[in-house]
Amino acid sequence: MLKPTRIWTEVDYEKNGKQSGWLMLPHSVTRSAYGMIAIPIAVIKNGNGPTAFLMAGNHGDEYEGQIALCKLIRAIDPARVQGRAIVMPAANFPAAMAGVRVSPIDGGNLNRCFPGDPDRGVTQEIAHYIDSVLFPMVDLFADLHSGGASLAYLPFAHMHEGSDPAVNRRSLDALTAFGAEYSVVWKHADERFAPGAAVKRGIACMGGEFGGGGSVNRSMLANVEQGLWRMLKHMGIWDGPTQAAPATRYMSIPGIDYHVHAPDAGVFEPATNLGDWVKAGDLCGHVHFVDDPMRTPVPCYFKRDGMVICQRHPARVERGDCVAHQVVAGADGGAPAGRTGF
Ligand code: CA
Repeated sequence: MLKPTRIWTEVDYEKNGKQSGWLMLPHSVTRSAYGMIAIPIAVIKNGNGPTAFLMAGNHGDEYEGQIALCKLIRAIDPARVQGRAIVMPAANFPAAMAGVRVSPIDGGNLNRCFPGDPDRGVTQEIAHYIDSVLFPMVDLFADLHSGGASLAYLPFAHMHEGSDPAVNRRSLDALTAFGAEYSVVWKHADERFAPGAAVKRGIACMGGEFGGGGSVNRSMLANVEQGLWRMLKHMGIWDGPTQAAPATRYMSIPGIDYHVHAPDAGVFEPATNLGDWVKAGDLCGHVHFVDDPMRTPVPCYFKRDGMVICQRHPARVERGDCVAHQVVAGADGGAPAGRTGF
């Protein structure tokens, strides 16, 4: 049986107009015995129509989406809305406030917690609310990511492909409407991820990796802001002006063998730049040992042909850290679907 959430809110999802309030998650600690974690949420509604759920801060150290959604909440005129937008700019709120990927309260990675459980701690409770309360209202889900502190991306919008071709079609249409320079299809939908959980419920879903290194990429922030308006317009939710999208290139990530992991602990010297096209067997980089200068650096190699779209940002690595991953041309991947293993 479905467990009820303990999260409550004064925001009314059925009320017309613009409301900005909080999801109140009970959290009893020494500083605040009967305290609440107040997670921001906005609802912009006008009459009947589809519902878009726009979310950022799934990982707390990924900022373009957080800024873009705060701007959208302030800017959107409910009189030009038909239907509803639900906006959560800092979904894993404790992580967003600390500027880290996972929750400083329970170590929870919100994007590995779905469908969540209200009895298993703060991060699971947030996932459970999104999955059991918000998702049933939603036609389109946007989950806005970035590389966070540990990764640097050549920025792209993306969708996660599920097993229902009709849902995949609607996701691809939303991705196309969003209009990033690169539109990438992840050839999987892990149900622990927010997009995977949404796709499982038949919700069209898009997102993106809009920068990284724990910073804010100015051009991608502008692209995210403009893309969100274009996507709302595509859904028939937004009736206001939008800017034309740049031409997009469709790419895909077929599986985990398009990732390269550090073979040892040390300092990683990359052999490629973001955007480079490489072949299977090409050098990805070397791990150096500055504590033992005579020790020969350890190389690692790409396992597949593809374009380098992501590289590790900090130079220090542990064995097993992802140092790069690739995409291939075309939305269909040209290879069997596989796990990406996050
Ligand atoms: Ca992320």
